[in-house]
Amino acid sequence: MVAKTYKNNKLDFESKEISKMHINKSLVIAGLIGTVLFLGACDETGNNTEKLSNEPVESNEEELNSEVTEESSESDQISNDGFTVEDLKSSIFNSSDILSLVNKNYSLEDDYVPDDLVTLDVPTVLENPEINQLRKEAAKALKEMINSAEEENIILYARSGYRSYQTQVQLFNNYVANNGEEAANKFSARPGESEHQTGLSIDVTSESVDYQLTESFGETAEGIWIQEQAHNFGFIIRYPKGKEEITGYQYEPWHLRYLGDEMATDVFERGLTYEEFLVERGIDIEI
Ligand SMILES: [Zn+2]
Repeated sequence: MVAKTYKNNKLDFESKEISKMHINKSLVIAGLIGTVLFLGACDETGNNTEKLSNEPVESNEEELNSEVTEESSESDQISNDGFTVEDLKSSIFNSSDILSLVNKNYSLEDDYVPDDLVTLDVPTVLENPEINQLRKEAAKALKEMINSAEEENIILYARSGYRSYQTQVQLFNNYVANNGEEAANKFSARPGESEHQTGLSIDVTSESVDYQLTESFGETAEGIWIQEQAHNFGFIIRYPKGKEEITGYQYEPWHLRYLGDEMATDVFERGLTYEEFLVERGIDIEI
């Protein structure tokens, strides 16, 4: 059932701080075993409008470019990826959409569970069956990415994918009990606010960082490969360095969010966080 299970059964899958803080892992484990599942928030065809993309720009590039900057809130604007502002609005606020926006300001319902979770078919670190799941489309993309990396001798492992609302409740409560709420809120998400509940986020790691989630992963060959290549498989690094004020999270070079090839590439090429990207596209969201 679980793919290649690796190394240990630690449940400190949330962030780099966890291992440093000596969280009572047995307590976490006791609370989590049997409840972990993975979910995602996209539909399988949510990002497939590429054919719309370049037509207007090609036909009247100069004029459209100026409109993009001056009238970015126009509801009928079409950008390179083909999504209008209205398209994006309906997508990002739809829990089950592949573009679903989940952060400290926009949370998921407590009963939201993706209906297309599948067990990952890639090397994994932990034995918990819940977190070794992603939504079908994201799982497929992850497998393609990890296989492609392997061809370049870059060996990646999946550490934590889907996490249910209830798992996040237990996780966050344990962090609060051990570290206090203020600290917990900086490296963990409150229930409903975790992108892992979408089933579209995956934490990846490597042997070079002892299969942990640590900032130094970003400087490893594996971490650099991820930074350069993940968008080609539909993933973005969701919490980039220096963007803590926008994302609400410290730099997490291991946390990938699936958006589909087209949107991920768009966000990557603009060098923006997902929130900044949406604002640039004319969506009025709270940051
Ligand atoms: Zn994560």
